[in-house]
Amino acid sequence: MERSTIVRVHEGLHARPATRFVKLAKGFESEVELVKDGKAVSAKSSVKLMLLAVKENQEVTVRANGADAIEAVEALIGYLENPRAGLDDEAGEGGGLEAAAAALAPEATPADTAPADGTPKLQGVAASEGVAIGPAFAHFPAEIEGPGRRLQADEIDGEVERFRAAVAQVQARMDRTLAEDNLSAGDRGIVAALRDIAADDSLTGEVERLISEGDDAVSAVIGAASTIAADFSAVDDHYLNARADDVHAVGRQICLVLLGQDEVSLETIPQGAILIADDIGAWDLARAPLKRIGGVVCGHGGATSHIAIIARSHGIPAVLGLGDKVNQLRTAKEVALDGNAGHVIVDPDETTRSDFTRRVEAATHERAGLKIFKGVTPTRADGTVIEVAANIGSLEEIEAAQEAGAMGVGLFRTELLFMRHMHLPSEDMQAETYSALAKAFAPHSVIVRTLDIGGDKPIAGIEFPDEENPFLGWRGIRMCLDRPDIFKKQLRALLRAAVHGNIKVMLPMVSEIAEVTRTRALVDECAAELKAEGVEHSSFDLGVMIETPAAVLIAPALAKEVAFFSIGTNDLTQYIMAADRLNPTVAKLNDVTNPAVMSAIELTAKAGAAAGIMVGMCGEAAGRPDLIPAFIGMGLTELSMSPASIQRAKKTIAAMAAER
Ligand code: PEP
Ligand code: MG
Repeated sequence: MERSTIVRVHEGLHARPATRFVKLAKGFESEVELVKDGKAVSAKSSVKLMLLAVKENQEVTVRANGADAIEAVEALIGYLENPRAGLDDEAGEGGGLEAAAAALAPEATPADTAPADGTPKLQGVAASEGVAIGPAFAHFPAEIEGPGRRLQADEIDGEVERFRAAVAQVQARMDRTLAEDNLSAGDRGIVAALRDIAADDSLTGEVERLISEGDDAVSAVIGAASTIAADFSAVDDHYLNARADDVHAVGRQICLVLLGQDEVSLETIPQGAILIADDIGAWDLARAPLKRIGGVVCGHGGATSHIAIIARSHGIPAVLGLGDKVNQLRTAKEVALDGNAGHVIVDPDETTRSDFTRRVEAATHERAGLKIFKGVTPTRADGTVIEVAANIGSLEEIEAAQEAGAMGVGLFRTELLFMRHMHLPSEDMQAETYSALAKAFAPHSVIVRTLDIGGDKPIAGIEFPDEENPFLGWRGIRMCLDRPDIFKKQLRALLRAAVHGNIKVMLPMVSEIAEVTRTRALVDECAAELKAEGVEHSSFDLGVMIETPAAVLIAPALAKEVAFFSIGTNDLTQYIMAADRLNPTVAKLNDVTNPAVMSAIELTAKAGAAAGIMVGMCGEAAGRPDLIPAFIGMGLTELSMSPASIQRAKKTIAAMAAER
């Protein structure tokens, strides 16, 4: 028995509608399959179903074989033809993996009770301003590894049993979570989808197959989860790509049970806690429950590393670059940190505690007072508007930027879009993202920076050579021009998005004019292709970041080639001062106020003014109230910064006007 239909389920059979479909299918005894483009999969496996990537308006066939085949086909076809199928409890969705993992992870591991050792004050790099005090949350996750032992034939059955018991335990934990009253409808749906992955034949079958070949259970779970996750990553659908993380999360949970270990999960961080880690991936931090994090302390990182940038954009105080000293915090119970001075106090005494509590309250009070500057349009003495824009790296940050009163986006870091996935994002996915951004801020401009990876930001999907000095190596525009396959996708997506708002594009790491002319030729080529293909597109202004000494020295000539400059003080400082921005040992030299860096900024501003182009700044210095008057004095008319700095910057510019 089989019947075909056109899928009307809103946005197709992504996680939740797929889970519901599977539940419905499992209610029938018959074997049921869903067929798309000649490929048939079991309708009782949500993983297989999701991997079939059934989209809205596609034709599919439901095929059933068994005693209740007619009823099964009727019911499943009815489901597929219902646009709201699976969406009846959509409210509150959006927590994604974060919410799900928060819900299914075991209770937070209590901090060790051993006393903190030695020095009460640890000096690191002041990476995100503000003070904080709160319970310590140590996050030093161990890599999970299987014992790597081949099983004897007589051990296989026992290992399969052990694996099944671990799955049952993980499912029971998820069931307990699902039974909790405080779970939102959205989170409930996500946990249910994860529970399904844990039970899915695709995972369990593959694990058991690997065990039968002699793998131990942990290695088998790691292997099977990686294979399935890779399948999810390969689908050209960003929603399904994110399921790869779900598979890894489920695999990790099963492995931890097999190893008898408890997970120290970032998602279980209590409200106001200070996150302590040796290192945190930029993307791991970006998707952590940032609203709950009171402060960040890290062994790695510097003031302009991406962890710092994310912390600043969310107004989270951070001290980074503690090096090995971070190990002294592994057992701390409470931590006070000063993100302005760059130090951390382990288990503070009563006096320190009350001092910090008072400072935290004063900061909250100051923030409340700054709110009135949200809607202010700051101007210079001659009436020229100073654009105070936001630096963001994902669509999730749009809200924070708008809440702060951003007059557009002065730097959209596209690399987070690339880091998010285990493969390169498609042109469509990029076009969707840039269009959403353009629409959100129109008529203000949105300056999208083309892919800037290499240095401290490698990504999956591009092989990077081993380099002695990656910051002086194959990064930014250098890599893009060598990989037109990747670069052209981004440029085409930007041309398509330009239809939807005021998109401008800027190139990172420029050090010679040819990089601009070669890019312009590629842009023209992309526009011609889109025209020939009949794809809607528009043009955009092309600018460059000024972040290498070479760019400063050729600024007068460069200014004739581009529509604007945006000074990237984070890199400009490290390259002018020859002081690695990630190296805490030379952090003192990495100082934008050094006369060498300030005169590079001035030279750039003069060159831009002479050519009549806009000169802005998107490095972190743009948000510094102590430097803003100098930058405006040099002629900068756009300052782009972390959303958390916007209102104070507007206040600073307004105060300059009041002094006139
Ligand atoms: C800069 O270098 O100043 C900049 C804004 O870019 P990033 O920090 O992303 O390198
Ligand atoms: Mg840079």
